[in-house]
Order: sequence, then structure tokens, then C-alpha cells
Amino acid sequence: MAGMLSLVAHEFSGSSAQFVIVVAGIHASEQSGVEVARWIGAKLDGREKPTRFGAIIVPELFPRRGEQARTAEWKTGSAAAFREIVQGRKTIYPNRQFPPPGRSLEFLRDGYLKDLQGRDIKIGRERVPLLAEARYLIRLIEAVKPIRIVSIHGMRPRTKNDLKNAAAHKIIDMTDAQISKWEGTAVKGVNFPGIFVDPRYRLDPKHRGFDVEDSKFDLALDPAFPKIGGKKRCDSARSDDGREDDMLAIGAAGAVSDISLVPGNHVKESVPVVHYAKEGATPNAFSLGDWAPVDVSPGKGMPGSRRGAPVFTVEVKGNQESWAFLDGVQVMSEQGEPLTRRPTPAQRATGHKGAKFERPPKFDAKRSRDLQAYAQAIIDTILDLP
Ligand SMILES: [Zn+2]
Repeated sequence: MAGMLSLVAHEFSGSSAQFVIVVAGIHASEQSGVEVARWIGAKLDGREKPTRFGAIIVPELFPRRGEQARTAEWKTGSAAAFREIVQGRKTIYPNRQFPPPGRSLEFLRDGYLKDLQGRDIKIGRERVPLLAEARYLIRLIEAVKPIRIVSIHGMRPRTKNDLKNAAAHKIIDMTDAQISKWEGTAVKGVNFPGIFVDPRYRLDPKHRGFDVEDSKFDLALDPAFPKIGGKKRCDSARSDDGREDDMLAIGAAGAVSDISLVPGNHVKESVPVVHYAKEGATPNAFSLGDWAPVDVSPGKGMPGSRRGAPVFTVEVKGNQESWAFLDGVQVMSEQGEPLTRRPTPAQRATGHKGAKFERPPKFDAKRSRDLQAYAQAIIDTILDLP
């Protein structure tokens, strides 16, 4: 595609000097997540009082792909084809585009993804280029040094096939008969919509490979790993900081006004869930949640040093949007009524107050309220709680 990459970030000051970075649209198929990020911005814009922490919101990391995804969604109801990025014969996973934990952007200075030992990561025989959008986000995190990061995605409804898969990989204990009778309630060990966290953690300098889950939290204690024995607790993070992050994730999930939007958190049960369960076929590369929570100290005079920040991943129930925003322009109010367009300078010069937007024919008022519920919960907890 022609033209330079141009990304929009919105900055809102907090009452303290620290910032939370909010990003969405890493998977352009998940337009519900993009809308939640836009609602956070709209609600912060309307507040009289700042939140405790400031927010820098990048509502859409891949705006051009997002525009195409919304065209597909408007036409067919789904933008599923815009999840990963296909370049010729290779698939690039946009959420697997980060430096190894403990390293800075400088470590990828030749423009290709690396493993912990600094060797090129390859798909087949080809090196994997660092996308311009990922570079932008990494640089933003290195410059702002946020205390928390919120990454907003969307999740398609889980099916019996997902459960069969998890059973086949021995992640859960469900028989075929039990699965055939399953009516959609969330099952621990399988990822369902909710608010999860990659807590702050330390990586053993001798660690090799890409699987860092075990360094983040104790799998034996974690309820998302039901087949690994141990006395389960939701705050299974290995570090004290990490356990604080776990508790904040529980608080954020509990703050979503409709509990059916966060079934994967099991918030009403004695042992809620705040960590991702392991899914099969994870590509060999590092995610935002692998990279951002680890301290980076690349040495004197080197850019990129910062404290680790927990990554709160919001998995919105369903990928579809409400159409309260059209390509980022808010046309419907929080209450579901058409907003008034900003008058042009010529209109203002003649005292004209501006005309109303048309209600988008596909606008879904219930969906709009649901997506706002996630936005409000994030504002009330992750942006406001110490
Ligand atoms: Zn996603």
C-alpha cells in the first residue's frame, strides 16, 4: 500500500504523572476491541475530573487494514479474514512482534525478530520482518514507560470443537458425551471472554526458548491449568508485583457491570481466573504480554530502559462492533442517540450549530451498551486504582 504509516494516539492527563497505554486493533478482525478503546477515549473526554493515571490510547494499530475489515464487517457481518497478516506464503502474527523479554527495540535494530540468544526467528527459511506498526508501539512504550498496558482484543464465541481440541490436547478432562451436552458455560482451561493479565515477572537469564508462562506464574497453582495438580488460587503470579497485577485484573473483571461479558474470569466462583490458558500451536515468537512485563536495563546510555509493566488483555465477547463509531468518528452518544456534527468554520461564522448525524442503519444499541461496560470498567479500575 502506498503512503507512509500514520498512527493516531490520544493523550489524556491523569492526576499523577504516570501513564497507562491502551492499544487495540492488533488483530484487525476484532473491531469490538477497537470500539472499546474508542469508548474509553470518549468517556475520558467527557469527564470533569481526571483519572488517577493518564492514558495514551492507540485505538487502532493497523488503521488501513481496519478500514478494510470494517467494509467486510458491514457487508457480511464478519471481518474474520483480517486476523493475521498474510505476506505471500508466510503468515505474520501481529501479536508476536515484540523483542525477547528483557531486551529493547535496539535488539531488533536490523528489522527482524530475534530469539533470546539474538538469533533470527524464521518462518520456514525466511526471517520475520518487524512490522512498522509494532515498531511504533514498542517505541511508544519505551518512550512513555507506562505503569500498565491495556491491550483490547475480541473473541469469537467458543464452540464444542474448541472443547474437543482442548480435551484432545489433554488440557481439560471432558468426555465426548459431556462435550455433546455442553450448553456454552465457560470451562476452566479453555479461554473465554474476560479480562486477563500477563503479570510483571523476571526471566531466569539461563532461560531458553519461547515458552515463558512458567516464569510468569505457577502453573500448579493456576486454575487455567486444571490438569496440573496443586491447590488452585487466582493470584498465582511468581512475584509480589505480579500478584498485585493479578488482583487488579480480578477487580477489573468484577467491575464489568454485566457478568455475562466476562465468563472466562469465573468471578463468582471461589477461584476466579486471570491468566490465559495455554492454547495449542502458539507461534514461536514473543507477544506483548511476554515482553512488556519484564524490566529492561540495556546498559548505560542505551535507549529503551524501563520498568516492566503488566499487560491487561481484554478479550471482548464477540468481534463485532455496534457502529456507534464510523471509521473512528463517533456518531452515536453513550445513550444511543445521534450526535451533532461539529460545525464547520463557515457554519460557526453564521451561528449555525451543526446538523445531526444519521443513525447508522446497522447501529446496535445493546451492543453499544455492552462495549461501553468494558470501557467503564477499565477506566474505574486500571486507570484509577493505585
Ligand atoms: Zn486478538
